[in-house]
Amino acid sequence: KEINSILKEYIISLMKPLENKSFFEKKEKLNATLISGVNGVGKTTTIGKIGKIFKTNGNKVMFAASDTFRAAAIEQLENWANKVDVQIVKSSQGADPASVAFKAVDEAIKNNFNQVLIDTAGRLQNKKNLMEEYKKIANVTKKIDPNAPHNVILVLDATSGQNVLNQVEEFNKIIPITGIVMTKLDGTAKGGILLALAKKYEIPIIALGLGEKVDDLQLFEAEKFAEAFTQIN
Ligand code: GDP
Repeated sequence: KEINSILKEYIISLMKPLENKSFFEKKEKLNATLISGVNGVGKTTTIGKIGKIFKTNGNKVMFAASDTFRAAAIEQLENWANKVDVQIVKSSQGADPASVAFKAVDEAIKNNFNQVLIDTAGRLQNKKNLMEEYKKIANVTKKIDPNAPHNVILVLDATSGQNVLNQVEEFNKIIPITGIVMTKLDGTAKGGILLALAKKYEIPIIALGLGEKVDDLQLFEAEKFAEAFTQIN
């Protein structure tokens, strides 16, 4: 019990500086967020969940279906847009992801939106393409707003184990990550890898995914994380 309490205090001291609750607040100017991560980690689901919180906090929200690699990805994002009642800019499968992002940010700025969430295809196995795709998305959005994309969120799957470290390393090289969301913490995985990440990269942790439903996203709080981590079942 004593060791557990020491561990808990240590985790809080390590993770507390990485909280970033202001991410979800209402923004005065347009905020464009690129959502990155390998396939299947939960990017699209996380966009839906974040969209709901943004909206609840008074933001006008737009989704950009820039994962044009799979038709199913566009459809899935559209389902989430309908579910949380936000607008979406999409194109057909195979369309240029950057042109979709440009159109979304352009429409958003013209119509006083506060938040654009850009979905991307995370084909890390084709690193050269991915790198070019991200650079192009970043460059075209910069034409509208030099500070865009304002956030680059990397979505990580808690069940991926040590592989997560490699994903952070690779994605951070392509485009610097400003925040992390860790999904699938509703299973047996406790997200211990976040401790390793906290020490090595000090990237803010935005939220944790705790299921597949729209409200299954918890804003990251060091105390809550430490409590769950040290809980003895
Ligand atoms: P993407 O390919 O990165 O866009 O991933 P998806 O959003 O399509 O998610 C892949 C699968 O993971 C889907 O079946 C989601 O329902 C599921 N998923 C996403 N987030 C969570 C989570 O926090 N917990 C659980 N249990 N499943 C999740």
